[in-house]
Amino acid sequence: MRLPSKYETIRQILSDLKQPEYRYAQIMDAIFKHNVGEYGRMTMLPQFLRDELTRMLGPNVCRIVPVKELTSQQVNKVLFAIAGDERVEAVRLTYERGWKSYCLSTQCGCGFGCKFCATGTIGLKRNLTAEEITDQLLHFRLNGHALDSVSFMGMGEAFANPYIFDAITILTDPQLFGLGHRRITVSTIGLLPGIDRLTREFPQVNLTFSLHSPFDDQRSELMPINERFPIHDVLKALDHHIRHTGRKVYIAYILLRGVNDSTTHAEAVAELLRGRGPVEHLYHVNLIPFNSTEVTPDNYQQSESNRIKAFVGILKSKGISVTVRTQFGSDINAACGQLYRSE
Ligand code: SF4
Repeated sequence: MRLPSKYETIRQILSDLKQPEYRYAQIMDAIFKHNVGEYGRMTMLPQFLRDELTRMLGPNVCRIVPVKELTSQQVNKVLFAIAGDERVEAVRLTYERGWKSYCLSTQCGCGFGCKFCATGTIGLKRNLTAEEITDQLLHFRLNGHALDSVSFMGMGEAFANPYIFDAITILTDPQLFGLGHRRITVSTIGLLPGIDRLTREFPQVNLTFSLHSPFDDQRSELMPINERFPIHDVLKALDHHIRHTGRKVYIAYILLRGVNDSTTHAEAVAELLRGRGPVEHLYHVNLIPFNSTEVTPDNYQQSESNRIKAFVGILKSKGISVTVRTQFGSDINAACGQLYRSE
């Protein structure tokens, strides 16, 4: 059964109480323009309505509760308590010139068991509702932070949770968060039904595919999902996505020392992405140095910097556009799943 978000419930309450149309806009303005976080403090509303909202939804607009916070210069990581005595994490990254980017969780834990991932060791507890996903961002909004961009790269696989699409609808609703579609990035290990649905319903939302090995046998070992959705099938869906949307697709590639950072790997990645016709130039590779503080089932290490340089050099020499993602927050274990485990 699909759970309605608080925004839908508020509409329902207003309609049940035969309230005028403008009440909904008043409440949303209070939340999103004036950062009012409690229904009881919405003084522009009649008292009975404040009471009814509080009775139905609880006193606080944001229904997930921060229980632990870690902050370094550029990273602020918050652990939230959610219903069922569970926990999820969200991260705020502050870039130079003040750009604020948020990394949200879509599931509590994750059942896909990628070998290099701390969240994978927790197993799947449950999917988050659309409200629990977007409340992670609401927490920062109500605390006065600008919301510049959002990615679903926290705990969980976004496309394994059908609520991700409701969450995107809430984030892009002009009366609510009002985020531009291009400010949102969904990251996936390659779930084809989710990729197809994003292409159809949210063509302007950014898409990142986590590749991590260009070889099916090795990728299946690192990421068991590859047995179900092998590399070539996913790339075909991504070609279609690019043709349909005219947008770039990002290929994420975590570099693990001695595992997937060889010259042969770099050449094979280039080979996969070349010769894809008119869409070829819209693939962009993001190399991510592995965060060695992660607690993972296997003991992976970060690639040496000369290996990273060589990998970049090979991709560039084959005409592939590539960047190395800056490492943020390894000093506070910002890698996903770590704060959860420390509890
Ligand atoms: S990398 Fe993503 S899909 Fe894989 S186990 Fe971790 S959270 Fe799950």
